[in-house]
Amino acid sequence: MHKKIALFGSTGSIGVQSLEVIRQFPELFQVEVLTAFSNLELFRNQILEFNPTHVVIPDENKAGTLRTMLGDHPVQIHFGQDALKDQAAQANYDILIAAIVGFAGLASTWEAVQRGKIIALANKETLVVAGDLVRTKVLESGARLIPVDSEHSALFQCLIGEDPSRVEKITLTASGGPFLGKKPNFLINVKKDHALQHPNWTMGAKITIDSASLMNKGLEMIEAKWLFGMSNEQIEVIIHPQSIVHSFVHFTDGSVKAQLGLPDMKLPIQYALGYPERLSNNHKRYEIKNYPSLTFEVADTKTFRNLALAKEAMYRGGNSPCVLNAANEVVVEAFLKNRIGFLEMSDIIEQCLERMTFIEHPTMDDYIHTDLETRKLASTLYK
Ligand code: NAD
Ligand code: MG
Repeated sequence: MHKKIALFGSTGSIGVQSLEVIRQFPELFQVEVLTAFSNLELFRNQILEFNPTHVVIPDENKAGTLRTMLGDHPVQIHFGQDALKDQAAQANYDILIAAIVGFAGLASTWEAVQRGKIIALANKETLVVAGDLVRTKVLESGARLIPVDSEHSALFQCLIGEDPSRVEKITLTASGGPFLGKKPNFLINVKKDHALQHPNWTMGAKITIDSASLMNKGLEMIEAKWLFGMSNEQIEVIIHPQSIVHSFVHFTDGSVKAQLGLPDMKLPIQYALGYPERLSNNHKRYEIKNYPSLTFEVADTKTFRNLALAKEAMYRGGNSPCVLNAANEVVVEAFLKNRIGFLEMSDIIEQCLERMTFIEHPTMDDYIHTDLETRKLASTLYK
């Protein structure tokens, strides 16, 4: 029996690597739905190779171009504002891979959660924005969230067979990104080309900037809180420049478990798709002797203020993480367009957190509204 896959965000970094994994196991997986936002050339090739029944491309004009590019290839093309949500709600799939970047991935993931589906979750923003609602709905609908994010995959693997009440704390590892050890007098002048050069991982632009600013680790703290039902105090971060130890779980008897591996997202993707089975592959192996020294250091949150701001938003709760996320999406885009400097990103996020109205128990509509209003505010805070 094949597992039917709906891959949301197939043309991105996680999307492409998910298809690489699927290509390795034609007897296990069958692609039912693919979605993309741009990059029609790549999308067409994916459609021709993997033969999905349905594809989504939100923009109507692009959908028309795609139809022409595909000739008489049999596939239903859906477009329009609600098309992503509708396919997540209606299509016939076993696993939805949530690989859209940012808040744009929330609506479709939420549909899959409501349907009680298995979700291979790369889109961490879903849990950052609406983690409380998603966690409650998961328990109600029977949905399963299997993390794709490497740190959370590590934690998930360490927690198997364990009693959650015997967990003392978790430690998320962070590479530190390209600016590890740098100070504000250096960071004030950095440009996107430098920020986009991650030492260990090749990823989409947004998460690469988030890694350079340590916002990514802040978002991951909030992601971990809702994935594993941790309290704020149980979550800590440590810098680990080699990106070999993907995270730690500390237990109440003093024992500590970690999961290790080379930094390659195909491993957590394959684990999520194969779960509960551990599939074999011939990827490059982690050889202990090649890494005689694994090092760890405390994060410099005075310089990398985004991590402190994310932690603050997590502790405040309510719609604060949603504000943090929306402001961050705006400033990352502005930084990528050379409109603002690297350090200005934190200034604008901080102002948004101060100025947006706090809602203690938001509904999904409140989150959507908060996202929209924060984007407007953040856009007025730079020229
Ligand atoms: P990416 O930018 O490479 O790809 C994003 C995908 O989403 C593309 O297919 C794009 O077409 C689609 N998309 C973008 N905007 C959209 C919109 N408005 N509506 C619909 N579709 C849209 O991003 P990525 O690096 O693959 O990251 C995807 C998600 O996975 C992010 O949430 C990221 O935090 C998470 N993640 C990525 C990595 C990684 O190694 N890349 C690791 C861990 C977690
Ligand atoms: Mg990660």
